[in-house]
Amino acid sequence: MTDMLSNYLGGRWHTSTEAGTALLDPLTGAELVRVDATGLDLAAGFTFAREQGGSALRALTYQQRAALLRAALKVLQANRDAYFDIATANSGTVQNDSAVDIDGALFTLGFYAKLGDSLGEQHYLLDGDAVALGKEPLFQSQHVLTPIHGLALCINAFNFPAWGLWEKAAPALLSGVPVIVKPATATAWLTQRMVKDVVDAGILPPGALSVVCGSESGLLDALQAFDVLSFTGSAETAAVIRAHAAVTERSVRVNVEADSVNSALLLPGEAADSPAFELLAKEVAREMTAKSGQKCTAIRRVLVPEQLYGAAARAISERLAKVVVGNPRNATVRMGALVSRAQMNAVRQGLDHLRAQAEVLHDGATHALVDTTDASCCVAPTLLGTRDAQGSDECDRVHATEVFGPVATLVPYRDLAHAVQLVRRGQGSLVCSLYGSDPQTLATVATQLASSHGRVHIVSPDVAALHTGHGNVMPHSLHGGPGRAGGGEELGGLRALNFYHRRTALQASSQVLAHVGAPASGPSATNT
Ligand code: NAP
Repeated sequence: MTDMLSNYLGGRWHTSTEAGTALLDPLTGAELVRVDATGLDLAAGFTFAREQGGSALRALTYQQRAALLRAALKVLQANRDAYFDIATANSGTVQNDSAVDIDGALFTLGFYAKLGDSLGEQHYLLDGDAVALGKEPLFQSQHVLTPIHGLALCINAFNFPAWGLWEKAAPALLSGVPVIVKPATATAWLTQRMVKDVVDAGILPPGALSVVCGSESGLLDALQAFDVLSFTGSAETAAVIRAHAAVTERSVRVNVEADSVNSALLLPGEAADSPAFELLAKEVAREMTAKSGQKCTAIRRVLVPEQLYGAAARAISERLAKVVVGNPRNATVRMGALVSRAQMNAVRQGLDHLRAQAEVLHDGATHALVDTTDASCCVAPTLLGTRDAQGSDECDRVHATEVFGPVATLVPYRDLAHAVQLVRRGQGSLVCSLYGSDPQTLATVATQLASSHGRVHIVSPDVAALHTGHGNVMPHSLHGGPGRAGGGEELGGLRALNFYHRRTALQASSQVLAHVGAPASGPSATNT
């Protein structure tokens, strides 16, 4: 039998003696390690995190906690190679795709360490200026943000075991809030290993960072009123979480990052040989194939003027045809596997569902897979199309279906108003990217689409070599989207810290408020 990964909770490691669930190599089907959460005392472990981890973190200033993040980053950097090995084995990703997750995680952690320095030796934050509450200026209101006196339960999706951990844990720990992470079972190994490395290095106070791999059973029951829950995953699981008593009765604050039918839009007036057209084709092909399309931000719908439908189909298909798919250990392979057989079946079902209303423009089945066996969960990229602008209106499935794999659909539109209307049929997305060369039109369309998106990524020829990519989540910018994308907000620089703080209005004499926000000078000023 393979090794059982230990869980870390209540300040110590626990190794289940049950059979647990096996984590598999999606190329070979080989069993790698096992996970199991049976027998953990969740209530005691959560209390330990709140009382020991929370108190110790809140006793530190933002700058001191930033130093902890930096020390954790050093440990992770030293073990980086091991993380790539785990990603290849457990996620089936090629080096570049593993880097999106692992280096993305390290970059985000470093980013929050730097931001923490800018907050200095404070224990809480001011929110805006004091305002007078009446005609006399003496009695005022000052809003403050203090770290919550609870813990952050972070439940993550399978596709970002490294980045998903740190994009949540970095702002939480910087805020002074202990973290318990529950990774998706299929790829829990990388998350567990990163937590283990940081815990074993003795950087964080006991209880500040814990990991529970395996069943989610009982985790939400252990949440209390001042805890928060940050969830990334499917809309179905999000609905179950939102209906749990922790949320409906104990008002646990929840952030949801769910699925999303993201779009890319080529603005009217761009010819088939224009730089904007080329940029769109390149980005669509990249987004469809990066991490085998298993990115919540990946482009699923590609909107082009109807007269460019054929040219766009050819340009994107030509790029997709060159993508070598197969075993990530083979140096010629550019796109590896899907994470599991379950995901492969879900992608095939999703493709069939969309195909009933669309034509196939590039068929993944025509790719020869490299170095694979019958056990390999590899699916090559497929581009679909809705044929004409009327088809784009009639095909309801393309606007409502997230196939979580290397699949996108070309959607022709009549005019800009029609394009905007089609994009909005996604019912709220994480990101939309715009391609064009007229700054005025790009800005106008971006603001029109802003209310239904967390991020609008605008690609004009002047930033061709500079833009950070449609699907890349940069910690400086907001991540999350309204409606079906979950309604959540993560990252966005210091904005991420809001989720882990309580905003309170202090109403008092300006003489009292003069002491609020002053650097801590004694035990009474240390807001722990
Ligand atoms: P999932 O099946 O919903 O699982 C997500 C997480 O929830 C896993 O850790 C899972 O644990 C856990 N979970 C399952 N049932 C639960 C319950 N009743 N209570 C609490 N936790 C529960 O999603 P997935 O298949 O891992 O991820 C794919 C989906 O995530 C896609 O739809 C994708 O769009 C979305 N996603 C969104 C973002 C974003 O930032 N918006 C990022 C990445 C992925 P187990 O694995 O143990 O079942």
